[in-house]
Amino acid sequence: MKNMNEIVLTGDRPTGRLHLGHFVGSIQNRIKLQNESSKSFYMVADIQGLTDNANNPQKVRDNVIEVALDNLACGVDPKKTIMFIQSEVPEIAELTVIFLNLVTLARLKRNPTVKNEIKQKGFNEDVPAGFLCYPISQAADILFCKSSLIPVGEDQLPVIEQVNEIVDTFNRYYGKVFNKVKHLVGDTPRLIGIDGNSKMGKSLNNGIYLSDSLKEITQKVMSMYTDPKHIHVEDPGNVEGNVVFSYLDIFDSNKKEIAELKEKYKKGGLGDVVIKKRLINVLEEIISPIRTKRLELEKNPELVMKILEDGTKKARIVAKETMAEVRKAIRINYF
Ligand code: ATP
Ligand code: MG
Repeated sequence: MKNMNEIVLTGDRPTGRLHLGHFVGSIQNRIKLQNESSKSFYMVADIQGLTDNANNPQKVRDNVIEVALDNLACGVDPKKTIMFIQSEVPEIAELTVIFLNLVTLARLKRNPTVKNEIKQKGFNEDVPAGFLCYPISQAADILFCKSSLIPVGEDQLPVIEQVNEIVDTFNRYYGKVFNKVKHLVGDTPRLIGIDGNSKMGKSLNNGIYLSDSLKEITQKVMSMYTDPKHIHVEDPGNVEGNVVFSYLDIFDSNKKEIAELKEKYKKGGLGDVVIKKRLINVLEEIISPIRTKRLELEKNPELVMKILEDGTKKARIVAKETMAEVRKAIRINYF
């Protein structure tokens, strides 16, 4: 198998429950790679969650278990994946401080992902320094365990690029310690939001969550944007920019029937309710087994926390080894 030598690391910010964007963007690859790589890590990025929620630590705290539950319910297996909490591996913070010297302020401000998120969150010049620097802390997340393959959504690609610049600069200054990393984007690099926004995001309030009930899925799909000119069933409709069809393209495996439905919709004679009902069924089929497993796991939160505790112990062993190497390379190993 082609990834057998790779070390995989992925993670989520505990800023809310996970949605379909996570599922197609990275969780599916996490599950695949835990069987096909030499080692895999999954991190709950609570420190990164705090970068734009410093005044709301309870939100981050509450969501640690939520994102862990979502991943476990989808099939991330703690026997195969080391699941850990970022803040409990202080070596990551130590490595972040070292990497801070390798990146300029101008470069941080140029990162298109961060730039866009700063705009979206309305920070402008008042952006918390920790938020602006999150690509640096992400480099530490990725490199503390010498990971080589990173399953991410498309929005994270500029961050991975910045990580590789840090690898280059570190190795140039201190001698070779790290290797460059590769990204792996899912089949759907960026799932749009139910509001038609270019990205479904936890902080954007436009998601269908992996824990949503059938009732919630129904309400969300029924509220989806189709074509405002498609008022009567017999009116010809637009499939481009039609959120319902965008989702059917991704989630409905019967491509032939979808192509036929599109033709019919374009000609006129197909109502929005028909395509919306179809989408509800398709999404329910994907989400219902995840929801069932999640409800089962929710009964035993201690077990979930124990999984994270055990994983964190393992991650720390690796982190200490890397930090010893880093300290030696920089000649800050005194005693
Ligand atoms: P927030 O809005 O708080 O940043 P988020 O929804 O972007 O939350 P993250 O925890 O930041 O979620 O991202 C976790 C992983 O999921 C990242 O690899 C990210 O690229 C991927 N991801 C998030 N949203 C999508 C999406 N809509 N489509 C594809 N991948 C996504
Ligand atoms: Mg994000």
